[in-house]
Formats: sequence, structure tokens, C-alpha cells
Amino acid sequence: MSALWTVKVLGLAAVALPLWVELLGRFLRRLRPAGALNEVLFFPSQVACVEHIFSSLSPGSCLCPLPHGVETSLSRLLRRILSATSSLDLCVFAFSNVNLSRAVLALHDRGVAVRVLTDRDYVAVTGSQIGVLRKAGICVRCDACSVHMHHKFALVDGRLLITGSLNWTLTAVQSNIENVVVTEEPDLVRPFAEEFHRLWERNDPARCLRPKRPKLRSGSISYD
Ligand code: ZN
Repeated sequence: MSALWTVKVLGLAAVALPLWVELLGRFLRRLRPAGALNEVLFFPSQVACVEHIFSSLSPGSCLCPLPHGVETSLSRLLRRILSATSSLDLCVFAFSNVNLSRAVLALHDRGVAVRVLTDRDYVAVTGSQIGVLRKAGICVRCDACSVHMHHKFALVDGRLLITGSLNWTLTAVQSNIENVVVTEEPDLVRPFAEEFHRLWERNDPARCLRPKRPKLRSGSISYD
């Protein structure tokens, strides 16, 4: 083979190799764990009793006036959260929904490692559940950077991502038009896990910088 052909073949290989690597990468990324979960929930959720999700009661044995035995977006969301067996990492701007708070507290009681990251300004809002979680011994960190920490996502056992427009408030669940995506797609779970880790470390009280935002008076503002 002439030197010219050798150069041409090597040149072609040099061009083709990165292309093959890229194609192989795309193919591998498409491979998902068998039975990987993907679910979309829309809100507002129908108002219905969720007591049976928190206890062994059958839906029919509760005497409250709400409809029973109805599967709603909220009940599905609660089941996804309660499916945690080892960890729950929650990163949410506004958290005042009592049922979602019950789910987080139930996980904590079961020995699940719960970490909650929220926005500093929201903690001061009337109805915030953050104080309740802290009182129960759950580790909470508040983001105090110059802009709002406006995420609304949760990671269940580091493998299931719950994310969307939904703040964890009663208004968001019962009144607003919202969306939540629940997925086990590793390509989506991974960056959210990295983002949680980044924000969690950034707001480590041991290395926190002085707050840059003026403090809001308690109850002076509300978020949905
Ligand atoms: Zn009921």
C-alpha cells in the first residue's frame, strides 16, 4: 500500500472513530433499566381522602366527608414519595402541604434518610412545613443566595426523580394547573442528583457565607 493510501485510510479512521463512539454512546444511553418508570401527573388534583395511603385502613373505613377509593394525582404522588426505602432528597421552593409533609415525616419515622433543601425566604411564610420537619429532626438546609432557589424536585432512593412545576403547597395541589414528571431515566435522574449535591454542599451551614438577601417579615408574602 502506498504511503498516500495509508495516510488516506488513517485520515478516514480518524474522522469515523469519533462518529462511531458518539453513535455507540447514544445507543447505550437509550438502554433503560427493565421496567423503568415514567409517569406524568397533572394538577389540580381531585380532592379525595388519602388516609388509606398513610395507614392500613381500607378506603371504606374512613368516616371523613371526602370521596374515598379515588385515585388522584395527589395520591399517586404520595405513593411515589412513600416508596422510598433508603433516602429522600427534596429540593423545593415552597412547602406547606400537610399531606406531603405527612409523607416526608412518615419516611423519617421509618428510618429513611431525608434531606430537605428549601429557599430561605419561604421558611418565614405562614403555613410553611419546614419548621415542622426540623422539629421532627429532619435535616433541612435553606438556600440563601441572591436569587430564589426555585426548584421543585425530589429524588427517591437516588433512582426515582419527581420534578415539575408543582410547589408542595395546598394551592398548587388543589387549585393550580401544574405538571409533575416521575421518572427513573438515569439520564434525567443523574443531573438532578448532581444539582442536589451541589446545592446541598453550597448551603452547608459550616461553610455558609453571610446572607445576601434582606429578610422578609413572617407572613408578609405567600407563595403558591
Ligand atoms: Zn376519609
